[in-house]
Amino acid sequence: MSLLSVVIPAYNEEQNISLAVAGISEVLETADIPYELIFVDDGSKDQTYARICEEARCHPAVRGVSFSRNFGKEAAIFAGLSESKGDACVVTDCDLQFPPEVIPKMWELWQQGFEVVEGKKSTRGNEKAAHGVCARLFYRLIGKAVGMDMQSSSDFKLLDRRVVNVMNTLQEKDTFFRALSFWAGFRTTTVEFEVVARTNGQSKWSIGGLFKYAVNNLTSFTTAPLRVVTVLGAASLIASFVMAIQTLIRFFMGSAVEGFTTVILLLLLIGGAIMISLGIIGHYIARIFDEVKNRPRYIVARRTEEE
Ligand code: UDP
Ligand code: MG
Repeated sequence: MSLLSVVIPAYNEEQNISLAVAGISEVLETADIPYELIFVDDGSKDQTYARICEEARCHPAVRGVSFSRNFGKEAAIFAGLSESKGDACVVTDCDLQFPPEVIPKMWELWQQGFEVVEGKKSTRGNEKAAHGVCARLFYRLIGKAVGMDMQSSSDFKLLDRRVVNVMNTLQEKDTFFRALSFWAGFRTTTVEFEVVARTNGQSKWSIGGLFKYAVNNLTSFTTAPLRVVTVLGAASLIASFVMAIQTLIRFFMGSAVEGFTTVILLLLLIGGAIMISLGIIGHYIARIFDEVKNRPRYIVARRTEEE
């Protein structure tokens, strides 16, 4: 009989642990799916890990690891995947915003032979309009970079053991799980679901955090900004030829005294363009630096088996 692993990253979710265990295990038991729940406590500052330990004591199907500090959801997902033993893995959120009722549907599709089942948001929950616009733009860009339609995609997905093994062998430290499952390929299908509003606690995302997340994830899948630098350089070279000819003609005609304003404007423009280009190149160098250090993606400090 095949086993399903459910990977659940949790950061400051003390109120949600027992709800998640109850909600998910009820659905899976009703559907008669053998399962294990793997909680990854992402260095929470509240009692999340204590709650996970309590659940692990009462339910043999529940396990958990705890990070030494907060490493982020991406790291938590990958830790969960490498801990999992199932023939298929579902990644979901601890706040039950991804309805557990969808998991049996994913399981069914997996049994039909699909190796990746993507959870697709049919609505984006109670989000602000501006947030929705930014999200759409971000997914359009990253979808282009990955070469797939990633609109409405989420971290809610089922992966076959083969895909999980691919994920586990990835060497990169700065990952974007949501796009990596598209990148990996395999037989893929989607399931639509409705995002449920968060009941306990609050979302961990700030505007600044989301912006950084978007930039980091885009640049981890595309080098297009570097090509933009080249295009900008070529454009200004062409413009400079035209300007040079005009300036020389004016010089020989003896009317080259004025034009100081043009010089200042050009200087400012070119200066700005060079700075931005350096910044873009610097961003990629910083990423190379981060990867090359080869530090572990996360540090597991405790496991429920050892408590
Ligand atoms: N999460 C995590 N580490 C973090 C931030 C979030 O493991 O640094 C987990 C969190 O506990 C939840 C999931 O990631 O299970 C989604 O987080 P959240 O609900 O804050 O994000 P949103 O649903 O607003 O995208
Ligand atoms: Mg949430």
